[in-house]
Amino acid sequence: MNFNFQTYFTEALHGITSGAELYASLETASPTSIRSNSNKIPKALPLPQVAWCEQGYYLPQRPKFTLDPAFHAGAYYVQEASSMFLEQIVKPLATRPLKVLDLCAAPGGKSTHLISLMQRGSVLVANEVIQSRAQIVSENLIKWGKSNCVVTNNDPKDFGFLEGFFDIVVVDAPCSGEGMFRKDPQAKEEWSEANVELCSRRQTRILHDIWNSVAPGGTLIYSTCTFNTKENEEVVSQFLQQTDAVCKHIPLQLEWGVVEKQHKGAVCYRFFPHKVKGEGFCVSIIQKLSGEEFEAPRKQTPSKAITIVSEKNKLHYSNLISDESVVYERQPGIIWSFSKNYRKFLLDMFSHCKVIHAGIPLVESIGHKLNPLPGLAFASSFNQNILPQHEVDLPTAIRYFKKEALSIENLPSKGWIHLKYKNISIGFVKNIGNRANNPYPAAWAIKMNIQPDLLWSIVDL
Ligand code: SAM
Repeated sequence: MNFNFQTYFTEALHGITSGAELYASLETASPTSIRSNSNKIPKALPLPQVAWCEQGYYLPQRPKFTLDPAFHAGAYYVQEASSMFLEQIVKPLATRPLKVLDLCAAPGGKSTHLISLMQRGSVLVANEVIQSRAQIVSENLIKWGKSNCVVTNNDPKDFGFLEGFFDIVVVDAPCSGEGMFRKDPQAKEEWSEANVELCSRRQTRILHDIWNSVAPGGTLIYSTCTFNTKENEEVVSQFLQQTDAVCKHIPLQLEWGVVEKQHKGAVCYRFFPHKVKGEGFCVSIIQKLSGEEFEAPRKQTPSKAITIVSEKNKLHYSNLISDESVVYERQPGIIWSFSKNYRKFLLDMFSHCKVIHAGIPLVESIGHKLNPLPGLAFASSFNQNILPQHEVDLPTAIRYFKKEALSIENLPSKGWIHLKYKNISIGFVKNIGNRANNPYPAAWAIKMNIQPDLLWSIVDL
């Protein structure tokens, strides 16, 4: 694109930082970072840490994550470091169970982070308006393994029925993506001034559409990965003028390199690649001062989408997970569980929203047989004593994620076996003697050809 971005940044940043320095930094290499899942990798990794995120680490170079079974098992998430700053905002609020909506959730970086920060008894709705992208959120959250997550595929307006419900709403808004220029050169090609205007109008609309569902006293976290002030300070300051809200401050450490910018009441935390070890990012914390408290409708709208399994029949499934749960069926014979505390909420979600998944997939029930669903293996609450276990080597673990039929020597018994790699639960196979059938979902399977000598794992570092 024949456009002078250096001049543009100098103008569009209104002196927050040097346009020339910012432009020069876009020619440098992007750092690679991951956030580990403490339920699956309990120890600290021997890697440099991201200063503002306890489980965040930098890698010396970008490896092929597809070749690591721990990646497929939800043991870590590849996430850009600046975005992990969410932790500094959410951690002080997560001293009690929270109801959180991640409105623009795909592919799921912030959702997996949020659910890790939230206490037991909390609930997360991860919404994504584009259906194919909502499926990716679903895969990532099932693999992350926490219960109490609902993935929906709705427009922001559809959450109007939850007036005053959420303690936190995260709007990681679609933006013109200037912060992605060095990571993804195509972002530069697709950029235009007209798109900045369009994004800014869309961001304002999204904030207004979802504001109603924030609880009085609750927090709306607004972020973008773009640099210009039109999609950041201006969107937030105009929003403050139109609503009863204020921006909150959080303490910063000087060595982080994060810039706090104030503009007409808006407080924006700015991440520039020449100042922080991460990509471009901007985040504001908006607190709602007044509004309607959530009032649950007295009458439950019956949901035809799911059937709650009776307390008596639930006993068939009660040893599968350790959580107190409500067990439900969506498609015939496909059994899921969800937190007992949120039974009514679950039904409301299925009545009003396009739910992609909710909770933990348990089993497929056929007659008297129960076949474990692959997602159950990833759940932190999975009761691992119920099936014989077998530790596999690195090539076998990757062949499982390729959905190949496996012939594994010394399996402990016939029937369902729970596979692990370096003590990380990866899935189930059904040993039929000469081979083991592999039920790993085709949609999640590795499609590329694998060179065995390139296999590696983060847990072997
Ligand atoms: N929060 C995600 C994460 O951390 O992985 C990244 C979100 S990305 C910056 C913005 C998302 O907003 C995209 O997945 C996009 O599909 C979605 N989106 C696009 N238009 C939207 C709209 N009008 N309302 C809500 N979300 C929208």
